[in-house]
Amino acid sequence: MKPFVYADNAATTKLSEAAFSEIKKYMTEEFGNPSGIYSLGRRARRGILEASETIARAINASPEEIYFTSGGTESDNWAIRATVQRKPGGHIITSNIEHHAVSKTLEDLTQNGYSVTYLPVDKFGRVSADNLIAAIKDDTALITIMSASNEVGTILPTASFGEIARSRGIPFHTDAVQAVGHIPVDVREMKADMLSLSGHKFHGPKGVGALYVSKEFALPTFITGGGQERGLRSGTENVPGICGMAAALKEATVNMDRNITYVTAMRDRLITGMLSFPGVILTGDPVNRLPGIASFALEGIDGEALVYALDREGICVSSGSACSSGASESPAVLKSLGLVGGGGGVDGAIRISLDGYNTQDDIDLILRTLPNVLNKLRGHL
Ligand code: PLP
Repeated sequence: MKPFVYADNAATTKLSEAAFSEIKKYMTEEFGNPSGIYSLGRRARRGILEASETIARAINASPEEIYFTSGGTESDNWAIRATVQRKPGGHIITSNIEHHAVSKTLEDLTQNGYSVTYLPVDKFGRVSADNLIAAIKDDTALITIMSASNEVGTILPTASFGEIARSRGIPFHTDAVQAVGHIPVDVREMKADMLSLSGHKFHGPKGVGALYVSKEFALPTFITGGGQERGLRSGTENVPGICGMAAALKEATVNMDRNITYVTAMRDRLITGMLSFPGVILTGDPVNRLPGIASFALEGIDGEALVYALDREGICVSSGSACSSGASESPAVLKSLGLVGGGGGVDGAIRISLDGYNTQDDIDLILRTLPNVLNKLRGHL
């Protein structure tokens, strides 16, 4: 049988059995409209309430601070757009390594009269608190900085950013889509007014997520209609998705300590192996990084060509083009590493993202396969 290794867990994850059985239950048995006042509807409502409790517990929030959305992208859009509408033309601070869900939203707001400061990252993909303090202006309407990078896996000091924002009375949002379910996340410690999360990043279903909104923070309505989600985000709730996501997060939380140890050990073995190959450079923070993300810059290799070549060997990973004209997610980190734009010789990037479903055999296969593939792509074979 042809080997198959899925190592693109930062892009999405396989649905867990627990999530699947909840989804099935709320699709086929408890399919009532949660706004219905008869018992079938009330049981669906109960499912949503229990899901809010589970998700709140996982991030140290209260259930009434959890609002369900269609995923990380919607949560980010809601948090950002609704907050800044209170200060038309105001100033927003972010980092230059945000996911498109944040960066494209801010680009759009720029077209509508807002101004944005993009904080730079250092060679490990870190944002400095001093730079944040220096960027604050009288009309700063929002600070939005991610909790962990989807590209290079660096974990950012969210709590210190939250502290700075709070001391200046500026709303603080963090995109924690890559963090929730993988590392401990505590909204109180982070002093976050809003936090985005997404079900499919921790073995829940796609198309469902949540926005945490502190009860101290009055976030304006995002979608008008039937008044669901306490009037802030209308539309019949995606009950199967919500309950499936909660089941997945419950499992991820219960298994978190074990998973962190298990996945970090695999990731570090992978990194050590990868760095023994010529022309491979680790990107992101060497220590303070997500357990599952190993990311590399590559000399003389086109990232996309490498992804296709590995796919032919049954290995799924993802690329990040390092060339500034390429279809890169965000070359900012590679640029700040001095690897692109300065004759650093790097042509491509690769992200290998693992989680608790991976095994040591997967790492063996990746490390056995890569030298040949890299050599072939460099034209040495
Ligand atoms: N933010 C980050 C950091 C992500 O990694 C992703 C997904 O890759 C998103 C937001 C978007 O989430 P979703 O796919 O649920 O819309």
